[in-house]
Amino acid sequence: LTKQKKKPGYHVVHIAAEMAPVAKVGGLGDVVTGLGRALQKKGHLVEIILPKYDCMDYSRIKNLKVLDVELYSYFDGQTHKNKIWLGIVEGLPVYFIEPHHPAKFFWRGQFYGENDDFKRFTYFCRAALEFLLQSGKRPDMIHTHDWQTSAVAPLYWDIYVPQGLDSARLAFTCHNFEYQGVDAPGALASCGLNVQQLHRPDRMQDNFAHDRVNLLKGGIVFSNVVTTVSPTYAQEVRAPEGGRGLHLTLAQHSKKFLGVLNGIDDEAWNPATDPLLEYQFSADDLSGKYANKSALRVRLGLAPADANEDRPLVGCITRLVPQKGVHLIRHAIYRTLECGGQFILLGSSPVPNIQREFEGIARDFEHHPHIRLILKYDEALSHSIYAASDMFVIPSIFEPCGLTQMIAMRYGSIPIVRKTGGLNDSVFDADDSSYPESKKNGFTFSAANEGGLNFALDRAMSYYKTDREWWQRLVSRAMKMDYSWNHSADEYIELYRQCLKRASSKL
Ligand code: ADP
Repeated sequence: LTKQKKKPGYHVVHIAAEMAPVAKVGGLGDVVTGLGRALQKKGHLVEIILPKYDCMDYSRIKNLKVLDVELYSYFDGQTHKNKIWLGIVEGLPVYFIEPHHPAKFFWRGQFYGENDDFKRFTYFCRAALEFLLQSGKRPDMIHTHDWQTSAVAPLYWDIYVPQGLDSARLAFTCHNFEYQGVDAPGALASCGLNVQQLHRPDRMQDNFAHDRVNLLKGGIVFSNVVTTVSPTYAQEVRAPEGGRGLHLTLAQHSKKFLGVLNGIDDEAWNPATDPLLEYQFSADDLSGKYANKSALRVRLGLAPADANEDRPLVGCITRLVPQKGVHLIRHAIYRTLECGGQFILLGSSPVPNIQREFEGIARDFEHHPHIRLILKYDEALSHSIYAASDMFVIPSIFEPCGLTQMIAMRYGSIPIVRKTGGLNDSVFDADDSSYPESKKNGFTFSAANEGGLNFALDRAMSYYKTDREWWQRLVSRAMKMDYSWNHSADEYIELYRQCLKRASSKL
């Protein structure tokens, strides 16, 4: 392993469980890649460390090669051999850790959902830090994400700083406070952490179950800067409901906690160049958008446009989980039909009874001219739906940031969203006179019930049908807004700068 040459700019190492497009379950994967690329473009040295999952999309990794090193890392009283692979994903160098532990931690055919997830990811955290130590890397920032890699923070201070891996300050981003990584205290000992030291109310003891430890809490307590993915969600998690018990911990660490709105990868999501679209288009020429709409209607067996194109196409692309407001998504299908629109849902559910319920609705509308439900994950089809739809429904109960509203707007589909989390920070109601005209880009509602959704959907339908010129102006304004990572990456750089400045002033 060779020492890294110091370049101008910061050296940032992200340690994460996901990275789009090779290992993506949700928005976290998009953030690691999107933020990483934006930082790289601004001249910083960005490296990523990921587990080497068997189920990754290996076709999206360039130049994957195994390094000629053996890395031994500690777990459960022994050291275990790891192979290290290096490859390029979306232009970013990624180190993949392949443990040779008998439990075959990342050889399970899925990213999460195993009984020993706590063990799998604490093993990974320890191995990732061991790799940084052994390779002689001296990063300025180590940036971890969600409970899966938050054990890096206590491991860093307790075990690695004393060994000389001490150049970095720690940033931690929580993408969703619902998932916290809670287990019996003894589970912490496996990766070498001191249970007695850490199983305390001000450290990693779970705030609800006092006989448990909480990894997410460790990320908050032991990192130098803690972010979540939108300013509104950062407020919501300060309350008991949103913070799922961690609001107390956030209150104690409020000075280092803030929300930074995610961006989207505006090169990957660009309707003017998107190779997955039949017809490319831009804000200045929407003819391709309408061609995509006609083509998708034919492809999915929906009725073609009527004479005035009076039937708006409403899209929804989502994981069907309670967080996303599934009952309101179901209601939106029927309401759209009542209002004379067409509806396409692309989604799938890990929750069997929700999946079954939507399969039932899909069957009811199987040959319907205006409704189509496609209950699977399909990246290519998602692009076609963003491009073809006029409106896009996101009635989430809570939404840390949400990417689909930003993608929809970039593709000229007007978002209809509940005012929560990142939706509240990126969608501004066309009828709200407190916003300047230049900011208005969608329709919003507050009450998490059918009346709330109707309030926003009905207004959108009415504008679409009665004032098409106004609608087109709204569409091109939404398409021209900047949802890229550019601005958010600057906010992260500023956070890193402040954090490193504080560290050097303490020396
Ligand atoms: P979350 O991370 O909670 O799932 P986000 O809005 O942050 O929600 O990100 C969702 C991402 O997953 C978007 O890029 C969206 O296009 C994609 N997505 C969700 N469901 C599907 C699906 N069934 N098929 C294709 N892409 C999907």
